[in-house]
Amino acid sequence: MLVRLLWEPLPESWPVAEAPRPAGLRGMIAWARKVAEGLPQHDDLERRVRRAAIQAIVREAFQQTVAEQDSEHRGPAEFADAWKVRLAALLAQTSVEITGWGEITIAELDINLGWSLHAAASRARAETIARAAATPSRLRGADDGSTSSFDFSIAADGAGSLGRVQYATCEPCCIGLLRKISFSPEWHCCGLGTLALRELETRHPALTWYTTGQYAHARGFYDRYRDGSSSPWTASQHPCPHF
Ligand SMILES: [Zn+2]
Repeated sequence: MLVRLLWEPLPESWPVAEAPRPAGLRGMIAWARKVAEGLPQHDDLERRVRRAAIQAIVREAFQQTVAEQDSEHRGPAEFADAWKVRLAALLAQTSVEITGWGEITIAELDINLGWSLHAAASRARAETIARAAATPSRLRGADDGSTSSFDFSIAADGAGSLGRVQYATCEPCCIGLLRKISFSPEWHCCGLGTLALRELETRHPALTWYTTGQYAHARGFYDRYRDGSSSPWTASQHPCPHF
């Protein structure tokens, strides 16, 4: 949904068609009439270009906010606010230079559409985060006699995979080793890393968990997580001789 709103051509009827459908046949007929009235009677190319231009600006503000995540580490609500500030700053200019578009004159745009798009896309992002769940673990191979490698995704219906978790287990030593956890930048700081670690502990409750070289880049994350876990989640000890 987030991708659809920011990257795919907006339906001509948007945002009308996004309104919730009323229950009951009578309500449905009235709703369908209203949607039909909102549809353009002719193909208005100029209007479509303007709609795509405001969408490009909302997307630009989104990408600027995503680019700050490595230093700002904003949670979902804070991210939505920062995105709004970025969008306001772009719309306050006379014209904006967007890659692939050249110069866009702000006065020619439907500013309200931009704000509707920001609100809907923010909501879609929050809903995706709320619906995110781990897919079943897949066995990737038995590494030797004792260790096995697995992976799973953190995914949300409609949004596909948000990230991937690769790990290995050693049953004889009761050790779990998180090898790699990777989310694309737009899903950083959304609590999905915590979700992934909890999932590992739930799926393999008998294991004590460690992590690898990624530890150094995400020290704060593991420091916070360790407080609520019985596992060390460090990279400082060699967990068992089989890895
Ligand atoms: Zn072992």
